[in-house]
Amino acid sequence: MSIRAHKCLLAALCGVLLVAGLAPAAALDRAAARAPAEDFPLVSEARLMGDETRTRFVADLTRTIDLAAFTLADPYRVIIDVPQLTFRLPAKTGESGRGLVKAFRFGLVMQGGSRIVLDVTGPVRVDKAFVLDPVDGQPARLVVDLVAIDRESFLRNLAIDHQTRRASAPTRERESPGKSTDPRPLIMLDPGHGGLDSGTIAPSTGDNEKGIVLDFALKLRDKLEKTGKYRVAMTRTDDHFVPLADRVRLARTSQAALLISIHADALAHRDTKGHGATVYTLSETASDAEAARLADAENRADLIAGVDLSSEPDDVTDILIDLAQRETKSFSMHFARGLVSEIKTAARLNERPLKSAGFRVLTAPDVPSVLIELGFVTNPQDLKLLTSDAWRARVADSMVLAIQTFFTTRIAGGAPPGPN
Ligand code: ZN
Repeated sequence: MSIRAHKCLLAALCGVLLVAGLAPAAALDRAAARAPAEDFPLVSEARLMGDETRTRFVADLTRTIDLAAFTLADPYRVIIDVPQLTFRLPAKTGESGRGLVKAFRFGLVMQGGSRIVLDVTGPVRVDKAFVLDPVDGQPARLVVDLVAIDRESFLRNLAIDHQTRRASAPTRERESPGKSTDPRPLIMLDPGHGGLDSGTIAPSTGDNEKGIVLDFALKLRDKLEKTGKYRVAMTRTDDHFVPLADRVRLARTSQAALLISIHADALAHRDTKGHGATVYTLSETASDAEAARLADAENRADLIAGVDLSSEPDDVTDILIDLAQRETKSFSMHFARGLVSEIKTAARLNERPLKSAGFRVLTAPDVPSVLIELGFVTNPQDLKLLTSDAWRARVADSMVLAIQTFFTTRIAGGAPPGPN
């Protein structure tokens, strides 16, 4: 399927999702009505306070919940991801705004997950996002504070705030991967999915792709850092959702010399035949139907969490025809081939281990990018390996070797180790 057709499909699906998930209260109540409302925390009121420099969003809840808040550009939005909630709000709630918020919407985006979307008047920063416990008959209170900032700061925050805002993982905190005087090449590791989006799920054990690939990426990061030859950054270091475009943006703004997106595939209907690792590069024409199916499935990550792709620039098509990308593509292919020949010593490979398709996460025009499917969670043998520490260590070691070969040959060939 062509990228353009593919995007149309995404846009169509997205439209459906937006109606089902982010519509005002009426559509919501129908969705919520399918499950007993008592099972989920109830939202009884939502309001805005403040002015154009600082605005507070408050929602009253029957109990404390976890939340993750992040921003999206063009149009400017603040997304608040929460566990599934039952919204029982007065009619017209969210239709009018105040201060920095024009209006807000809320809804169920998937079983187990709800989302609140604040449409904002311009670039903002999430200053605080927390939930107060209920006290003395007062309900629990979800509070998100926004402050106005300039567009430049907004875009910078967009790229890095997923990592820096999460106070939950202070030990994982890495220095900002932005401008650095460190001459070593920066490698961006991209564990797929996260947060509401679990990725594939093993039918036999319930293991999630998002957890499997995060564990693997953390192991690979540690091994790469141990070589002392590279700086390593990650698109996520914990269990939260990062839109695909943000993953690409992060690789570009931090001037990564290589992006490796890490996934684990599944076949439908408990088909246990598919097995082994496959390395993918970007292509407008998928190398086979299987590759097209997979790119579709992986690109759907944004839909699951309700990111409106129609607002993203049509970068995939434009980039594919951009001649400037030729060099990046050949570096990506070169690395993909090296990766396949190195990991075959450590992991079993798919019968066709090198493929290409229109993966959105591989579209940075100036960062060589590959996507590796480590194996199939639907295949019992693969799943055993994917969740084994020894296998992960072995495969991560082989990937470190492939990365070292890639950078040595690039330097030997006269190309700089950086993205230029
Ligand atoms: Zn995936």
